[in-house]
Amino acid sequence: MTTHLPAAGIPAAATPTAPFSTDATWTNWGGNQSATPAFTVRPRNEQEALDAVRFAIREGLPVRAVGSGHSSSPLVQTGGVLMDMSGLSAITGTDPAGRRARALAGTTINAFGDALWEQGLALGNQGDIDKQQIAGALATSTHGSGKNLGSFSSSLRWVKLINGYGDIVEIGEGQLRELRAAQVSLGTLGIFLEVELAVEDSYYLQEEITYPTWAETAGTWQSDIDSNRHYSFLWCPDNDSCGLLDLPGSPDYGMGGRSYTKKYNIVDVQDERRISGIEGARLDRSYRIYPGGFTTQFHELEYFVRSEDGLAAVEAVQDLIRTKHPSQKYPVEVRWVKADDAYMSQFQGRDSTVVTLTTEPGTDYWQFFRDADAVLQEFEPRAHWGKIHFMTRSRLERLYPGLDTFIQVRREFDPRGMFLNDHTRALLA
Ligand SMILES: Cc1cc2nc3c(=O)[nH]c(=O)nc-3n(C[C@H](O)[C@H](O)[C@H](O)COP(=O)(O)OP(=O)(O)OC[C@H]3O[C@@H](n4cnc5c(N)ncnc54)[C@H](O)[C@@H]3O)c2cc1C
Repeated sequence: MTTHLPAAGIPAAATPTAPFSTDATWTNWGGNQSATPAFTVRPRNEQEALDAVRFAIREGLPVRAVGSGHSSSPLVQTGGVLMDMSGLSAITGTDPAGRRARALAGTTINAFGDALWEQGLALGNQGDIDKQQIAGALATSTHGSGKNLGSFSSSLRWVKLINGYGDIVEIGEGQLRELRAAQVSLGTLGIFLEVELAVEDSYYLQEEITYPTWAETAGTWQSDIDSNRHYSFLWCPDNDSCGLLDLPGSPDYGMGGRSYTKKYNIVDVQDERRISGIEGARLDRSYRIYPGGFTTQFHELEYFVRSEDGLAAVEAVQDLIRTKHPSQKYPVEVRWVKADDAYMSQFQGRDSTVVTLTTEPGTDYWQFFRDADAVLQEFEPRAHWGKIHFMTRSRLERLYPGLDTFIQVRREFDPRGMFLNDHTRALLA
């Protein structure tokens, strides 16, 4: 549904109507990406966001949005207009019977917790942190872990956005082709204003933490995946590995060669006095259980393989660390995500095992990441769009059957490519 003037009718505006600064430097959370846009605009409402995009169209400037800046790939950089979306933050509606929730694009994941709980609802899953804005999480297919649980993107059912004509348009379930493009778009369809997600009835989670050896982890691989709502582990190459991610590790064992496993299952809680915050035995509302928080910066590469290749892929990475990169001490995180249908989703058509490698800022981690990219090649990995990766257009052509359709939709929404930057142009122009 188009609700505003087409580009030809855009009135002249000397500056954006939203608060803005010129030539301010932006840096991401990890400190490895920065940019100095001509204008950094912080819209406080839909009209100011629209005015900013129309200003950019009139001035011939490219536009990118920034959420919480937690991506470590060069997604956000622009020399044109950077739209800081933090001023568009609110839960705008819930439908408990239909299990739906609407929110403005800049709403952070942690803002959903209490608001949805009051309506008897909860997000179906969450990742390792809850600081991301919902549109930022959707743009890169941010995920948690659980073989029957999809990414945030798989739950997107409707979006209102500003396209490259300077129009506000809506995409809903009646436009499946466009919706599948919008579910994972790397910010290239336009500026998201508001989204609707499929959510679940509220639930409590019980935590279990164990510290198995690698032989034990591999031995119970499939049963652990199958018998837990959420199962993930961090394999520790060294006794110091857990501490690097602020994890307590085992009270009884050195963690070198062991896994720090996390299992979460739904339990019935009638009385919240049962709630427990004890590490390893936490019991709480789902949204209070999921997110940890990381105080120290790091850089990550995260690749996705078919779940049937998960064990072999993890062992290939372990072998790489032992034989060629023994100085890499960070844990290797392993998770699972259900297949979905979004054209540019890492999980499109593939139940996936997620392998995450973490490195320390200020060290030369590039050779480690390049070697990991090489050893995982045999598993045809896809990459997290928000983390460091080595994807090229030709690799996308081999890995994403929906790439051509995505690009067609992208061009329909943004024929002049005003929402592209160098990184996304190389992949998706
Ligand atoms: C400490 C840490 C923990 C993490 N844990 C996980 C995890 O558990 N699971 C996981 O999958 N990922 C994880 N990530 C990655 C993170 O979830 C993604 O990089 C996510 O995209 C970041 O969201 P953001 O709000 O910071 O978006 P940004 O990084 O600011 O932006 C990401 C993309 O979204 C676009 N965008 C943002 N807002 C809009 C909008 N309104 N309209 C259009 N486009 C928009 C941007 O242009 C950009 O392309 C983690 C990252 C860090 C640093």
